[in-house]
Parts: sequence; C-alpha cells; structure tokens
Amino acid sequence: MQLIDTHSHIYAEEFDEDRGEALARARERGVEYLLLPAIDSESHQRLIDLAVAEPEMCRPMMGLHPTSVNENPRWREELAMVERYLAEPPEGLKFCGVGEIGLDYYWSRDYVAEQREAFIAQCRMAARLDMPVAIHTRAAWEDMCEILEAETARAAERGERLRGVLHAYSESAELYHRMKGCGDWLFGIGGVVTYKKSVVAAAVAEMAIEDIVLETDCPYLTPVPHRGKRNESAYVSHVCDKVAELKGMSPEQVAEITSHNARRMFSI
Ligand SMILES: [Zn+2]
Repeated sequence: MQLIDTHSHIYAEEFDEDRGEALARARERGVEYLLLPAIDSESHQRLIDLAVAEPEMCRPMMGLHPTSVNENPRWREELAMVERYLAEPPEGLKFCGVGEIGLDYYWSRDYVAEQREAFIAQCRMAARLDMPVAIHTRAAWEDMCEILEAETARAAERGERLRGVLHAYSESAELYHRMKGCGDWLFGIGGVVTYKKSVVAAAVAEMAIEDIVLETDCPYLTPVPHRGKRNESAYVSHVCDKVAELKGMSPEQVAEITSHNARRMFSI
C-alpha cells in the first residue's frame, strides 16, 4: 500500500524528541511521501532542514498561514519572503505547492482585510508560477468561496490556472459541489472524518474518490483510535481505512487512487 500524507507538520517542535522514529513508523504503514506546508518565518528553517535531510520522502511547500497575519505588523515582509523563496528556492530544494494559505476568522475578526489581502496575493503568486495551493479555512467559508470563484476565473482569463487542495475539509456535500463547480479542487480528508457525528463523513460518502486526498495535519486533528494524543503521519492509514469504509472500497484502492490524485496535483 502506498499512502501520501498531503499535510504534515512533522517538522514542528512536537517531534523534536522522536522525528526519526515517527518517519520510520510512517514508512512502515506505507506512507511514501509527506507534503510539508509552511506556516511562517518562525518555522521556515525547521521545514527546510527536514526537506533537505529527507529529500525522497518530504516535499516542502512555501506560504504564509492566515493566523500568522493576525497581530503581526511584519506580515507584508513575511509575504515578500514567501515570494522570494518561491522564485529562488534554497539550493537543492523544490517547493511542490504554495501553502498553507487561506482565511481563519475563528480566533479574531480584526484582521479580515489583511488576511484577505495576503491570501489573494498568494493565490496570484501560485497561478503565475503554475503551482497548486494548500488552503486552510476556518470560520470563513463564505469569503473563501467568493475569493476562489473570482480568483480561479481571473487566472483562467489570464491563461493561468489556480488549483489545489482544500485542506482539512470538514464541510458539507453542498459546499463540495459548489467548489467543484469552480475549478480543479481536491479535498484534503483527515482525522475529523473518523469522529462521531462528523459532517464530512456524510459528505465523503457523496464525494468522488478522484476528488479526495488524504492527510493528517499532524500534530493536530488526531484520528480515532488515537484521538486526544499527538497526531503523526503514520496515522494517515486510519483516515484511509475510514474513507474506504465510507466509500465501500478496500483501503488499498483508496490508497492507490488518492495517492494518484496527490501526485497529479503536486506533480510528484
Ligand atoms: Zn496545517
């Protein structure tokens, strides 16, 4: 079985004690690639160091996370840094996507304008560079849909394409259909699908398997049966099992198709 964890923060300090073991456990479960979304300059070096140390398994992204825009007077400098990294990656490194970027109004609504500006700027960078995006959305779906509809259309008018993954998708089938209607979007399904009364479990049953990629978002959003503990990339196998159950497919089939989807989107 070959799995891809399309959203792993295994470079985070939560793994400083046992990162090597966590990578080995992921390999044992058949996880072939980990895609590493960036957050902000505080963790760039960790991300880059891991991607350089594990070039076969770990594929880095570059982007500014929406919550790193909040209360950050230097966010425009951070944005310029992202652009420089994408234009000129460090020696021996290739970024596979622009992420994670997006909108997060959960913690505060005081920075809506700044978050929107940073998000739109990064969507345009990605379209210009023909790279996929990894999108984080929390408590901001209406704005997200409107921006993606407009930006996908804008890119197409310019002969560019805006495409990518809606990471940690935990919304309804209705929203899935709306997003599908506006372009080449995949849906990152993670630990939330294993939770009781999960809205997204019902949505997954209705989604085409060709539209799904698997992820952990480790160290967060730990799937059952490890819920409450630190998440890690090996646990993407539990997400795979749950999606298989919901789709009436074998885990091997789900692994094969979702890994193919991830390879296509991120050019792996
Ligand atoms: Zn993340």
